[in-house]
Amino acid sequence: MRFIRKLPIPMEIKKQFPLKAEWVETRNRKLTELRDIFEGKSGKFVLIIGPCSADNRDAVMRYLEKLCRAQEETQDRLLIIPRIYTNKPRTTGEGYKGMLHQPDPAARPDMLKGIIAIRELHRSALSDYGFTCADEMLYPENHRYLSDLLAYIAVGARSVENQQHRLTASGMDVPVGMKNPTGGDMHVLMNSIHAAQGAHTFLYRGWEVHSDGNPYAHAILRGYVDFTGKCVSNYHYENLVELGEMYAQSNLKNPACIVDTNHANSGKRYLEQIRIAKDVIYSRNHNDSVRSITKGLMIESYLEDGAQKVGENTFGRSITDPCLGWEKSYRLILDIADSLR
Ligand code: PEP
Ligand code: MN
Repeated sequence: MRFIRKLPIPMEIKKQFPLKAEWVETRNRKLTELRDIFEGKSGKFVLIIGPCSADNRDAVMRYLEKLCRAQEETQDRLLIIPRIYTNKPRTTGEGYKGMLHQPDPAARPDMLKGIIAIRELHRSALSDYGFTCADEMLYPENHRYLSDLLAYIAVGARSVENQQHRLTASGMDVPVGMKNPTGGDMHVLMNSIHAAQGAHTFLYRGWEVHSDGNPYAHAILRGYVDFTGKCVSNYHYENLVELGEMYAQSNLKNPACIVDTNHANSGKRYLEQIRIAKDVIYSRNHNDSVRSITKGLMIESYLEDGAQKVGENTFGRSITDPCLGWEKSYRLILDIADSLR
């Protein structure tokens, strides 16, 4: 390993790119609304929606402008939390690692530009559209560059068994979704929620720290891959009932789940997300205990349908997982709002 340069710590970056009091207030209000949903005090449904990766600032901002109007139209039923995913896990370690590494996907990695670009993008989402967003916590030590901006954090399928992810999640005050691991083991998933809800003393960024436990840690069902490499979905009615039973046998707080409609649930056939979303709403409407734990959906959506390779340059088309384009996404958002019971 070659050390290239010392980078600013999160406190320095936060000082350089601060938040106005009114933005902090907006974020607090949205975060309270989101926590109320997880605590069962509010019956609104959460949509965590946006591109697989936030690869291009202009395209993401254009997307948020549209999403903001969709939120206004549906605000009595839905709470929309945009997905602004700025760092991407890669199955083999190869390929685009996200805006954090490559603010310009076609250029070489530049971590200083990256930490500034991701803070500025999340900050613009809040200042321009009043959105406090979701991101994946891929690297726990980087979390604090964005900790005052985010309302929702996901721990990915490849990270959920990792101790440092679990302990860092236990020190957060926002809902953290723990994804089922890529192999689908539900016990691993429940153990990760247990760990994140517990209090811990540990080492973090060179400090001895203590966490009080995160009562909003919950499950995200994203489907899994079996030992032959085949995708197996876990969004079905039976899966939700079973998760409810596992919660009932645990002493976890705020039993909750978000269903990820893409990834191994759709087998990355992104158009299937429409059917899967409707199927989950149907299951939820059918059974009160399913309804009480199923708090929302995670949908991969962008301006254009599908995906492209880095360098193909269609504005607003994903360069990682294929996404549902805006027109279909907008229709789906309205359909979801209409069909909720
Ligand atoms: C994602 O949300 O784009 C993602 C990589 O998810 P997972 O960890 O479920 O693969
Ligand atoms: Mn994805």
